[in-house]
Amino acid sequence: MNDVCLVNPSHGLSETFIPEDLIQDPTSGIWVCEVVLHAFIRLNNRLFNEWLEPLSLVSGYRSFIYQQKLFDKKIAFYQKQGMDETTAKIEAAKIVAVPGHSEHQLGLAIDVTTWSMRVLEDPLIISFGETPTGKWLLKNSYLEGFVLRYPKDKTHITHITYEPWHYRYVGIEVATVMKQKGLCLEEYIALNQG
Ligand SMILES: [Zn+2]
Repeated sequence: MNDVCLVNPSHGLSETFIPEDLIQDPTSGIWVCEVVLHAFIRLNNRLFNEWLEPLSLVSGYRSFIYQQKLFDKKIAFYQKQGMDETTAKIEAAKIVAVPGHSEHQLGLAIDVTTWSMRVLEDPLIISFGETPTGKWLLKNSYLEGFVLRYPKDKTHITHITYEPWHYRYVGIEVATVMKQKGLCLEEYIALNQG
């Protein structure tokens, strides 16, 4: 599996796919691919050097089974509100990735927040993007190989709403090109497959 593997609503992973090189972040206990953890630590070192609040991992690798649980929970929530099963499934898929279609199964995606926001019941909120750390990250994450995966101005391509906390590791080389040309992953892949 390479670092630019595309996983989105139309490109899925098999139920049995598990990354080979998962490693546990000692601070959060969250699992990610080894290369991602090292890049994340370097990112935090940069934040320290800038006198900005460091990042905390909220989510990393998620198994197919775990994603299934999240998805089913959302369906049950909507059904409780009176939706029939089909409608509940459609609505759930707008918020939670369908199992096999979450980038988190790759181990290359991370959800992050600041240390102080970590204590919030739901730390994954739009206002993270407005914090000095969130702003710095958007500008500089490419230096360590990360890209903001679901930018505000690309929702018509990603079909996923703006998520200032969700970053995807693609490697420094690709991240730099994406940053310079203002591309999201779908666009980068389309251009590079000719
Ligand atoms: Zn995420």
